[in-house]
Formats: sequence, structure tokens, C-alpha cells
Amino acid sequence: MWAGLGRYTPGAILFRQACQLILPRRCPLCGRVLGSVPACPDCALELKIRARWQSEGPCAPPPALGGGIVAWAAVPFWYAGGIRDALLRAKYREQPWTAVQLGCILARQLFGAQIRVRAGVEVPTPLAVPPVDCDLLVPVPSSGRGRSYNVPALMGLPLAHALGIPLEERALLRTRQGTPQAGLSREERLIHTAGLFRAEARYAAGRRVLLLDDVLTTGATTAACAQALTAAGAESVAVIGFATSRQNRTLPAKPGIPFDLDAEPDEPEDF
Ligand SMILES: [Zn+2]
Repeated sequence: MWAGLGRYTPGAILFRQACQLILPRRCPLCGRVLGSVPACPDCALELKIRARWQSEGPCAPPPALGGGIVAWAAVPFWYAGGIRDALLRAKYREQPWTAVQLGCILARQLFGAQIRVRAGVEVPTPLAVPPVDCDLLVPVPSSGRGRSYNVPALMGLPLAHALGIPLEERALLRTRQGTPQAGLSREERLIHTAGLFRAEARYAAGRRVLLLDDVLTTGATTAACAQALTAAGAESVAVIGFATSRQNRTLPAKPGIPFDLDAEPDEPEDF
């Protein structure tokens, strides 16, 4: 249901504009009512502080990377402060539009996408030249604990629109209900996530998949997803996350070499 509301067809945009009358657009970080104001003046500095790199325009993944199970990865924000608050709100407080707005921020920060505000609705402008060597965006499936929507799937709506590639939620499924991973070591997480996902060959086979998650910590979930997609015939798998813990130095900020699967990560704060 939420995905249908978020797509960028003229009818969906009109519907969302009508919704502004009841639920006006708010800043995803601080909750201030923005309406048609392009960006929250109170949170510009916060976004800058939490960025792991400062965008100087669109960036592209380095060529000819690959060989591992993840061709390249990128995580542009630290999981702290207003970024952490926004993700927690999207995840635990039934605020699906916050997730969509974070997807706009991700598209802008990582690929330089322009975001226009049309009658209180943020609409990304499709990039003229595809900045990534991917042809399918796949969100990591939600654990489903207490939510009626999947945060990475909603985050992927504006991102897919900006990149000009389809978003396919059905490409990756959970085989069982997971349990919270906070507090688990990387080894424990790898055991926990083994076989946790199954990819559908009819969507994944022959595709260059861009996998999207909200928070990346140890990479165990990402690795399990990438393995499932590869097993289903995906040609390649690249990874984008919105945020990672401040101490984590194993994930590249912008598209670059994959995280070091052998590195010892720090404990996550909430995930
Ligand atoms: Zn704000």
C-alpha cells in the first residue's frame, strides 16, 4: 500500500499533494513543518556534520571492480544525531514518509540528484546519465517486526526514480523471521543470517542488482542477501546503505571497494 502511494506517477503525486492538507510535509530529521520550503534551515548543518563525505556533484562507481560477492558499496552518512533519529522514527514510529524523504536525501547526497518540491511533495529529477552500472534496485526485506511497511523499500522509491531503474521488492524474500541482531558478534550474525534470504530468479537472473538497506553494520545481512541474489543468477550485486556507525571504517563513503568482510566492526547502537 505504501509503495503505491510513493510512486511518481502524476496520480500518485496529486494524491500525495492532497495529503499535505492533512499531514503537511515535515523535516525528516527534526520534524519541523516544511510545506513547500525546499530544505529545513535548522538541519542543513546537521546533514553536513553527519555526512561521511561532502558531495561535489554526481559520483560514479569505479570501473572494473568486482570479483567478490559485492562489486562495490557506498554509505554516505554516519548513524548518529539527526540521521539516527530520523531512521529510528521511520523504523519504529510508523512514519513511512520519513523513509521516502530519506531516500531523496540519499539520491542527492550520493548521486547529485536534484530534488524539486512540488506543492509540498519532493520529486527527484531523473539523472540524465545513469551514474551506476546497475539495472535493478532491490531493497533488503524487512524483519517485519511491528511495521506495516519496509523502510528500505520506501527509501528506494525516489532513488529508483532518480536512477531510472526499476525497484523490485519481490526479488528478495526472507525465508524465516529473523531475531534482533543488536549485541551479536559478527560471527554470530553470520550464523544468524545464513540462509535467511531467498532470491527470485525471475527477477534477479542476469540483472546487475543494486541492493539497498537503511543501516549497514557488520555487513552480515548484506552478504547473505548478495549470496542469495548471486545464487539466483544475478550478474552482479552492488550495495548502498544510508548510514553506518561512526566507528565503522570498513565501508566506503561513496561508491568504492566493498567493505572488508574480515574486519572487526564495532557494536551497533540499535540494529
Ligand atoms: Zn529539520
